[in-house]
Amino acid sequence: MIEARNITKHFGTLPALLNVSFTIQQGSVTGLIGPNGSGKTTLIRIMNGVLGANAGQVMIQGMNTSQETEKVLSICGTLTEQSGLYENMSGRDNLLFFADAFALKCPAERIDELVELLEIQDYQHRKVGTYSTGMKKRLGLARVLLHRPSILFLDEPTNGLDPDGIQMVLRILRRLNVEQGMTILISSHVLTQLSAVCNDYIFMEKGRIVEKGTEQEIIQRYQSEPRLEVEADMPNGWITGAFSPVAANSHSATFQLSSREQIPQLLRQLTESGQVYQARIEGNDLESIYFAIREANAHE
Ligand code: ADP
Ligand code: MG
Repeated sequence: MIEARNITKHFGTLPALLNVSFTIQQGSVTGLIGPNGSGKTTLIRIMNGVLGANAGQVMIQGMNTSQETEKVLSICGTLTEQSGLYENMSGRDNLLFFADAFALKCPAERIDELVELLEIQDYQHRKVGTYSTGMKKRLGLARVLLHRPSILFLDEPTNGLDPDGIQMVLRILRRLNVEQGMTILISSHVLTQLSAVCNDYIFMEKGRIVEKGTEQEIIQRYQSEPRLEVEADMPNGWITGAFSPVAANSHSATFQLSSREQIPQLLRQLTESGQVYQARIEGNDLESIYFAIREANAHE
């Protein structure tokens, strides 16, 4: 388990993180989502113990990251935006070099495993300088997995990748999570790319956490006043007792409800007076909610 307690970080007088607290359960994949400058990289560096906080602490499996940094780093792998790879060496030689630095036992076997997992067989002997961004990202990932970490931090791993590259990285991360139970934290300024792989989210804005939880928890929290868009045949029009639409034409209408509980009531009334073909709750997907959260915080 990872626990951040009241992390505050200032650079000079400027606050980069303000009172940030959260818990990450073992085996989860968490998306750390926020625009540029919201504090994601700073937070990851503090979680790794490579940067000190002004206040608060991070505990990883019971260890304080600022006090037991070495031990923490031995169970964590971190892929930063700078790959830290040597461009004039081959991919495989890079891995051999870092395996040596970690004093890894049986480095060749471990490297073979990773080369296969990350699908870099075909170009492992080519110089890294000739790699595409996606290839470098995968080699970088192999590098941080060398010492078999059980926790993986990835700072904007999909940045600069094309859609195929993004899918490939996400597929590998899913595999690491499912097959090895790896706990994964992925930062990104784009929510859409991560929704296929994350089960938990932390939304950041200007150094603060503005929302967190599982996708379902977040959706439930914002679903208090749902809008229902209905496609139906209503021979006697859309007047349905307590409900009247905010917009309507002959075959569809939108209803503004005051609570979730009204959804089944409205649907019951509609089906009693006509044929309902489709009903959709508007704005209850994570993307729309995130957009609304960002809007709300932009004015603060
Ligand atoms: P993100 O990764 O979400 O884009 P960062 O953590 O990089 O955000 O930055 C958060 C804030 O802290 C920004 O305002 C940034 O300018 C500032 N910052 C980050 N690192 C430093 C640093 N080493 N020195 C001064 N300011 C920094
Ligand atoms: Mg960053």
